[in-house]
Amino acid sequence: TDRVTLEGDSGAGYGQLKPHFVLVPFFAQGHVIPMIDLARLLAARGILVTVVSTPSNSSRFKPLVDRANAAGLLIRIADLCFPCAEVGLPDGCENIDLLPSRDLVSNFFAALPKLKEPLVRYLREQRPEPSCLVTDSCMPWTRDVAAELRLPRFVFHGPSCFYMLCSRNVAAGSPEQVPADALQPFLVPGLPELKVEVIRAQALRLFDVPGREKLRDQVIEAEATADGIVFNTFGEMEAPFLDLYQKTLGKPIWPIGPFCFASQETQDAVLRGNKNSVDARRISDWLDSNDPASVIYVSFGTITTNSYSHMFEIGLGLEASHRPFIWVIKPVDMSPEVDHWLAGGFEERTRSQGLILTGWVPQMMILSHPAVGAFLTHCGWNSSLEAVAAGVPVITWPHFWDQFLNEKLVVEVLRIGVALKSQMKTPFVSRESEGLIGRANVERAVESVMGDGEEAEQIRKRARAMGVEARKAMKPGGTSYESLSLMIQHVLEFGNN
Ligand code: UDP
Repeated sequence: TDRVTLEGDSGAGYGQLKPHFVLVPFFAQGHVIPMIDLARLLAARGILVTVVSTPSNSSRFKPLVDRANAAGLLIRIADLCFPCAEVGLPDGCENIDLLPSRDLVSNFFAALPKLKEPLVRYLREQRPEPSCLVTDSCMPWTRDVAAELRLPRFVFHGPSCFYMLCSRNVAAGSPEQVPADALQPFLVPGLPELKVEVIRAQALRLFDVPGREKLRDQVIEAEATADGIVFNTFGEMEAPFLDLYQKTLGKPIWPIGPFCFASQETQDAVLRGNKNSVDARRISDWLDSNDPASVIYVSFGTITTNSYSHMFEIGLGLEASHRPFIWVIKPVDMSPEVDHWLAGGFEERTRSQGLILTGWVPQMMILSHPAVGAFLTHCGWNSSLEAVAAGVPVITWPHFWDQFLNEKLVVEVLRIGVALKSQMKTPFVSRESEGLIGRANVERAVESVMGDGEEAEQIRKRARAMGVEARKAMKPGGTSYESLSLMIQHVLEFGNN
């Protein structure tokens, strides 16, 4: 679907060489959202951007893209048909969060490479011709698309560079460095001047679990053969890790985030990601009624699930903190037990203290509000970085994949938050996991970032300072801004050769 014309467009000084970037997100919210932000960042530099999507996915971000187009930014949406029937998925299950059951994840992954032929056909017809592909690391089949069309291909990594580096080092570690015993703690190898202790389950590369080896290897291969790497991060925060990663890979790396700064307009923050389940106005009015930096915002992203007993512990910990809170509960976590427990007294007791929201909320709008003083997060990289961007300290409870190392980065390296300290021994927290955290963990952690102590004050100060750096990085002259210029330049030079 072509929603923009190029007539009258100045091309922002690129002359005949109108660059045309094709972005291929992985269809999970934590991957689509930053890609849409990236589309906007590129379009703001006068670049034509095509976002490859499917109807269910684009229905979520189309309102945001429509606004960008109305503002003169050139973003096209390429809707491909997602082959649900072919792989045994119910109609419309085009995103990880739309799968009715975890058992269908394999079917979902089987559908993705089937987009290859339709995508090649679509891109062959595009004018101006595509200049490059930027594809999510979880879409390794795009390697063949780039090869067929003879286009440069850049891999976008959803997680932090710290995670990519550490998990790679652990995988390559010797038996002396990385013990065979899965539960024995060890130091991540290859981090000069930094001692980061993990167990193996917390430092796995993406898809490095039984049954997913093939995908894991394809992802590694697609990175090894890429023409460059894009990170949603910024130099001031991850410089040593970006340096090491660049040296290991021996190819260009562009840290060009935080992407969440792609727009400064509240309406864009309100529309970001999905249709809100509550009126954004209700949330902002509630936040307005609270003191600066007084509110705890609690949300665990789009995929994690929690047992009902953990939900109780979180709720009781928040109540005991005596601080105002916004607690976002995903519909999948709203089990009959949780529903019953909320209705059976908790909601009533905390009516004047907190706001319990079910479903999608405008997270960036909330985090940017001055009333928010801490974010209890699962450490998805987007959430972590959005907290950084907003200058808000975090309380961390990682559930899987990169989230454990993201926690290490924010808590131990950057020291802009505290950990809930769960008793994790496996790579996944699920609805079946029990007894990992208690209300006392929550209460104590809240005090450690929001309380009067000197350390709490220092954490808040560092978080604010990092937020200032993040904002600066994205402005003209800033590290991320200039890094994006270099990436665009790289593509233009490729086109000239
Ligand atoms: N998000 C949101 N509203 C919600 C839940 C999530 O806007 O109610 C956004 C959040 O701001 C972030 C993304 O969804 O940009 C979640 O990505 P993250 O990497 O934090 O976690 P994931 O969902 O991938 O585990």
